[in-house]
Amino acid sequence: MSNRVAAVIPAAGLGTRMGGNFPKQYLKIGGVPLLVYPLRILDAIEAITEIILAVPEADLGYCQDEIVQGFGVKKVSQVVAGGRRRQDSVRNALSAVTPSPEFVLVHDAARPFVTVSIVKHALETAYQIGGAVVAIPMPDTVKRVDATGRIQETLRRDPLWLIQTPQVFRFSWLVEAHQFAETKGLEVTDDAALIEQLGYPVSVVQGSSTNIKITRPEDLQLGEAILASQHT
Ligand code: C5P
Repeated sequence: MSNRVAAVIPAAGLGTRMGGNFPKQYLKIGGVPLLVYPLRILDAIEAITEIILAVPEADLGYCQDEIVQGFGVKKVSQVVAGGRRRQDSVRNALSAVTPSPEFVLVHDAARPFVTVSIVKHALETAYQIGGAVVAIPMPDTVKRVDATGRIQETLRRDPLWLIQTPQVFRFSWLVEAHQFAETKGLEVTDDAALIEQLGYPVSVVQGSSTNIKITRPEDLQLGEAILASQHT
């Protein structure tokens, strides 16, 4: 595992689906802000040489002082301002990475329960394939429904996967993909979607049903339960 890997953490969302005006990445589980959990995991992985954190512009000082310094995170080399969309935040963080590493890992700040083993598995697959995304097989039946609520079709479940982060790519691919998105005006919800548009290979790597993204208020209770189960 001698490849140099930079990690990018988009943490610049405003958390509007959580209700209230407090960005969800600072909400606490087990008394610790969500954002701190993935930073601790990435800090512990030898192949990761630096972490670039993208946060709301107004919170640059808070994140540097209270999150990075406050919780003793070692590998954050830069805290940068994010953008309006997640993809803008990732692009801003990518442009702060110098010199170019071989690989880049992107992980949402809002997924606190990623593990060292999931990250290592994603890195090993990306070293072989070029791109790897953490995902879980679709557990439920999936139907296509029209705007009136009428079911149109039941989809075959076995080729469907729910996509999580981390996602790991050759650094040059992701830079090219984000430039491509800007030129073409593409809007995406994950980085792999851009890499796919360029035709580069990306494989899924088994994630975990506990690698949840904290999105709605009830997810915080679920998060507390997952944390408690990790300590039993
Ligand atoms: O909104 P969603 O849950 O999909 O956001 C996923 C991740 O992207 C979160 O960690 C959030 O902070 C981040 N994000 C960002 N910049 C935005 C929107 C979301 O960094 N403009």
